[in-house]
Amino acid sequence: MNDADKQTGHEELWKQVFGEGHPVLVKKQRRFLSWPNDPRCKLCYAPFAGFGGFFVRLSGTMPSDRNPHYCNKCDSFLQAFPGGAEVLMTVLILDIRGSVDLSGKISPKLYADTVNQMREITSEIIAANNGFILEFQGDSVVAVFPPGFTGQDHAEKGIATAREILKQSLKIVGTDQTLSVGIGVHTGSVYICTVTAAGGNMQGVGVFGQNVNLVARLSAAADAGQALVSIEAASEAKLDCDNENTAELELKGLESPQQVVRLDF
Ligand SMILES: [Zn+2]
Repeated sequence: MNDADKQTGHEELWKQVFGEGHPVLVKKQRRFLSWPNDPRCKLCYAPFAGFGGFFVRLSGTMPSDRNPHYCNKCDSFLQAFPGGAEVLMTVLILDIRGSVDLSGKISPKLYADTVNQMREITSEIIAANNGFILEFQGDSVVAVFPPGFTGQDHAEKGIATAREILKQSLKIVGTDQTLSVGIGVHTGSVYICTVTAAGGNMQGVGVFGQNVNLVARLSAAADAGQALVSIEAASEAKLDCDNENTAELELKGLESPQQVVRLDF
């Protein structure tokens, strides 16, 4: 997220969109989710393909030229109301284990195909749990589960997403080898806001703050095929920690040890 300028302003509006759910947006999201097909606008879930895609085009909704992850209407909205707010939500970060090693072993093309395939599979799971995928960062995936999108059970859905991703048999394209990922899940207050990416053309949404760093640390500390869930996310989701594999971990850059729940495939 270093290549982006975070923006401030319109705090009440963004608090409503991500914290509580904006009535107009929520109505659109509910309607569009029941229409086929993926891919969809990341904000309002308007379908871009299939019958649903055809139908929304009739009302003038289509992928934005500048910003293909969003529809033209949501893109105009992001442009018109740059800013952000601090909202309590669940954040999930996933990344590929041994990516440096792997990119040295297979061709750049196969590596790119592998990353794209992983993104496609995980994006579907994240979307099915009402998560919001932020701009893809290299070979990792950053997703947020804001209550305004996901509902009050955002931590449960974030953890369910991690469990479902771990169950997938992700493969290195062109081989039979398994692609290993590590996942971090945490619930906390983050600053979520519009960002302008390099060149000023692409408008997107990013998250910032200490709690985002914590998820990144959890994700980095997870073993291959493992998710580390912070105790905050676990208690928000009312996980029965007595029956879970808990541990206390020293994480790089954090002063005190963190209590985590380990989810293994
Ligand atoms: Zn949209």
